[in-house]
Amino acid sequence: MTSDQQELPVVAIVGRPNVGKSSLFNILAGKRISIVHEESGVTRDRVAVPVEIDGVHLLLVDTGGLHGSSSQDQDVPYGESVRRQVEAAVSEAGCVVWVVDAGCGFTAVDNDIADMLRRRETGKVLIAANKADNRQLAEAVESEYLTNEFEAPIPISCSHHSGLSELNERILDKLRSFGNLPQSPPESGMRLAVLGRPNVGKSSLVNALLGEDRVLVSSTAGTTRDAVDIPIEVVTDEKRVPFTLIDTGGLRQRRRVDTAVELFSVMRAENAVKRCDAAILVLDGSEGVTAQDRRVARLVRSFNKPCLLAANKWDLAGREMKMRQLQSRVEHELPFMNYAPFIALCALSGYNLQRLLDTLFTLIDYSKSKIPTPLLNQFLHDLAARHPAPPQGKRRLKFFYGVMVDNPPPRVVLFVNDHKLCRANYRDFISNQLQAAFFPKSGLPVCLELRSRRREETFLSN
Ligand code: GDP
Repeated sequence: MTSDQQELPVVAIVGRPNVGKSSLFNILAGKRISIVHEESGVTRDRVAVPVEIDGVHLLLVDTGGLHGSSSQDQDVPYGESVRRQVEAAVSEAGCVVWVVDAGCGFTAVDNDIADMLRRRETGKVLIAANKADNRQLAEAVESEYLTNEFEAPIPISCSHHSGLSELNERILDKLRSFGNLPQSPPESGMRLAVLGRPNVGKSSLVNALLGEDRVLVSSTAGTTRDAVDIPIEVVTDEKRVPFTLIDTGGLRQRRRVDTAVELFSVMRAENAVKRCDAAILVLDGSEGVTAQDRRVARLVRSFNKPCLLAANKWDLAGREMKMRQLQSRVEHELPFMNYAPFIALCALSGYNLQRLLDTLFTLIDYSKSKIPTPLLNQFLHDLAARHPAPPQGKRRLKFFYGVMVDNPPPRVVLFVNDHKLCRANYRDFISNQLQAAFFPKSGLPVCLELRSRRREETFLSN
């Protein structure tokens, strides 16, 4: 058993031979069981498999395979082997599924098992009356097996696959009532990648954030293939907001990549960009924007990722210029990131970290907002009237109507007469206008999709 398996809640199957324990085990274990059989052969040395029932992971144990049928147990008396089965089941399991044969009724061995279970925790036990292949048998089950000590038996048929969803439900209820189900994992929230070239202060920023009073590290960090994922919660006046910080190892220039290790580091950073929901792009404020910063920024932009620009080392940069100057410089160098709010900060002293957190909350708020369709269309109508698309030969782009279809990032579909009439700069102009009007400095890029339609609706622009 791996350590992962040991942490799972255990469901044990007990019962005398030939009642259908293995069939039930096979069905609940799904495809994995064929591996178990192939691997284990006659001795059946593997009798526990991790399974998933309705999204809950647990360990299914066939106790009949643990004792009584393995070769080294051949000389163990039959009654003794059943006793061992039950003991193992009751001590280890959060739920014991006792399988009986609906067709045969209670046998002497069943009586022994009932006695043994009675002496232990009957509350953990569910009776699955197998081979209840038809209605009469299923109805007979209750009168046959209902006793004061155990809950009403569940008629099932492994060969007809009936009654199994009720059994699954009751297994989960049992585990829940005994507190054996792990708490659902804390919501990991928005995945926030901290990106930037080496030495800009990414690690310092992550450490500074983790040291903030408002930031709680909610559980242990997980090292993924690309980066270290750190689950955190940021405390606001009303609630705790979960985030996962994706702490990347720094991007390298692709052209100068000369070792396999560096190549992997570029790929890892790209993966982090792909799987994040938003990015904090860290720049070194004292050095300004370099070619490599632009490359990282382009990567973020190419995936349309929401982003904040964090100019770190403000303690050094601030000696030479005003914050406004640094901001204009960054905006000038990274014009395609105009949707990203700018924050000058100092990871070492913690200066402006609160502003960074507040800006993140603004981003989250905007990522829940939707432009009402009438408002969007009024806006597009006015825009087209004030700034019509430049003509292409004798033709000109015209809008039919627009609708916002997604967020985050906000995605607007614009139905037009012919999307080929829209030049890239006019397209950028429209998204910038939408961004400035509806998502100002939110960190969310507005993505525009143009679709050509026939002339069947009224134009918004003429
Ligand atoms: P990373 O490679 O991007 O993770 O960068 P590090 O966090 O390792 O920081 C690189 C260097 O910059 C270290 O020597 C840090 O102490 C320093 N550093 C980080 N943040 C600041 C800051 O706000 N001000 C100053 N002056 N130095 C900083």
